[in-house]
Amino acid sequence: MVAEITQVKSPPAISSNRHYVSNRPPLAPSPLVKLPIGSIQPKGWLLTQLQLMKEGLTGRLPELSRFLREDSGWITLKGPGWEEMPYWLKGYADLGYILGSPEIVATSKKWLDLAFRSQQGDGFFGPPDNRKKRDLWPNMLVLSCLQSLYEATGDTRVIPFLTRYFRFEHGLPESDLLPESWQKLRGGENLESVYWLYNRTGEPFLLELAGRIYKRTADWETDIVNPEKDRNWELSGTYHGVNITMGIRYPAVYYQQTGDRKLLDAVEKNYGLVMDQYGRQPGGMFGADENIRPGHGDPRQGAETCSMVEFMNSHEALLKITGETRYADRCEEIAFNSFPAAMTPDLRALHYLTAPNLISCDSTGEHDFQNGGTLVSYDPWAYRCCQHNVAFGWPYFAEHLWLATSDNGLAAALYAPSEVTAKVAGGTQVRIIEDTGYPFADHIDFTVLTSAAVRFPLYLRIPDWAGEAAISIQGKNLSDKLQAGGYAVIQREWRDGDRIRLSFFPKITVRTWEKPGPSVSVRRGPLWYSLKIGEEWKRYGGTDTWPAYEILPTTPWNYGLLLDPGDPEAAIQIADRRPPAGQPFTPEAAPMVLKARARRLPSWKADGKMVGKIPDGLVFSAEPDMDVRLIPMGCARLRIASFPRVAGKSSEGGRAAPGG
Ligand SMILES: [Zn+2]
Repeated sequence: MVAEITQVKSPPAISSNRHYVSNRPPLAPSPLVKLPIGSIQPKGWLLTQLQLMKEGLTGRLPELSRFLREDSGWITLKGPGWEEMPYWLKGYADLGYILGSPEIVATSKKWLDLAFRSQQGDGFFGPPDNRKKRDLWPNMLVLSCLQSLYEATGDTRVIPFLTRYFRFEHGLPESDLLPESWQKLRGGENLESVYWLYNRTGEPFLLELAGRIYKRTADWETDIVNPEKDRNWELSGTYHGVNITMGIRYPAVYYQQTGDRKLLDAVEKNYGLVMDQYGRQPGGMFGADENIRPGHGDPRQGAETCSMVEFMNSHEALLKITGETRYADRCEEIAFNSFPAAMTPDLRALHYLTAPNLISCDSTGEHDFQNGGTLVSYDPWAYRCCQHNVAFGWPYFAEHLWLATSDNGLAAALYAPSEVTAKVAGGTQVRIIEDTGYPFADHIDFTVLTSAAVRFPLYLRIPDWAGEAAISIQGKNLSDKLQAGGYAVIQREWRDGDRIRLSFFPKITVRTWEKPGPSVSVRRGPLWYSLKIGEEWKRYGGTDTWPAYEILPTTPWNYGLLLDPGDPEAAIQIADRRPPAGQPFTPEAAPMVLKARARRLPSWKADGKMVGKIPDGLVFSAEPDMDVRLIPMGCARLRIASFPRVAGKSSEGGRAAPGG
């Protein structure tokens, strides 16, 4: 390998970045550090998502949500006011800072000014009902909003306000600090904010408070989703999907204070436990249609939209704490494959549950989900928590594309078209333009802009799925094939206009899930593929401005893939590809279309409005062979992304299914 490129698992965690607030001792040094909001400008398809959010549900939510009206406890400071307003504000305000939207920034400030004004003598703030109920959960969300406000605008009220609030928490008797339920299960959010302030003020009482908060938070170290061992089962009586996507990272958050690597291991162990039982499906999520339910691990079980944005947020946090690229891979998998389909392409409506196998987004409730009523139709008026919480998915993703490294360089951690402006080395400001159609394109072009030549390390993530990758500078190939995982680090003196190309050579691969099934899923690079199903959009409610839609199938969905077990990829080819449009996440705009050999499976039938469970075993079908089209699952609102494997001949050992 040429000397100026090396490969590492993570940036070194031995010192602090000189320009951006990093962990302050004794907290474990941060390998990767978030840049202040505004340093990263999304472009291309990602910018389109943010612009659609502004014109769509997030930007105009006050027209729809009863929790954002004048009688909100966050305005009156009298009645109740719970998680909804701050859920929304957390994404809405960040959206405004990233887009530089004066209207959004002004509206956010109005809400935050009220939070400042509500602070009482002892430091508590927010609607008094929360105090009566000893419920600190909604305030945890406001803490995140205030951190963003400070990072984006430098508002001088934030630091003293947070200091007073944490003194209030520090003074609470133990029994009043996270006494029960949601706040106890979600205490790690509060913990992160305490560290955020400690890194800026260094006040020792904050570390003492952090220790108490972690101790009073539910146990996320012991095995989860295991009724014999999971102590959170006793606490709430459920394996709540959203709580798992949040809580799973908390031991790693506390690791920063103790340095005990067992806490990092606990995160991986619990991720494995959940995904092995309920996440045998493409798209980075696990089935929890409100709660995880034993026996409901089929890819037809949905994941809540809140779970997607929270899981992405957890992976972003774990990426910063550990520096390890697997968390970026997991975040991208959700962002590109599961999250876009949770919303309509115009980002004006969403639904509660999205599943890899979902053949009807109707409003009948004829689905085997834990909750009743409509959960899969796209309705801008419904789905109380998700309607607000969806707002922070794309903005937080955009804020983590680029991170500062402990050795005063920069890391391209998540990939999307963007531009970053940041200080490197001794303080030289550089700009790097990232020009790409990724995740739909196979290469990423970077251009370095700098007023003076400057030496700093540039870290480029090599995803786990990348069997090989290559880097060229000024068109000259600089590396042998790079290994998947970790980062390629380029150490050199960078000059204005230097051009780098990172190329991937993704192959179409087939993943077999032994249970349920066996089923198979098709992947190419960062994207999973699903059967293209005709969509009929049928309005069933809402208003003319904010309609609610069912999406119903107009073409068959019950196909199995015909694959040669010795060479499963041979039966799948690229049928069509083009550069991504502004909004690539629609069936028509799909930038890549694959074709695969398949047969109908007449025995695989709908179960109510829901897709039938994946048949158990290899299935024989006497139907004719045909080609089917596969599109990225993020483009598909109706989808089959986990297919049964079909045997072409009964002699292959296929089971003749009843009626098949
Ligand atoms: Zn939700």
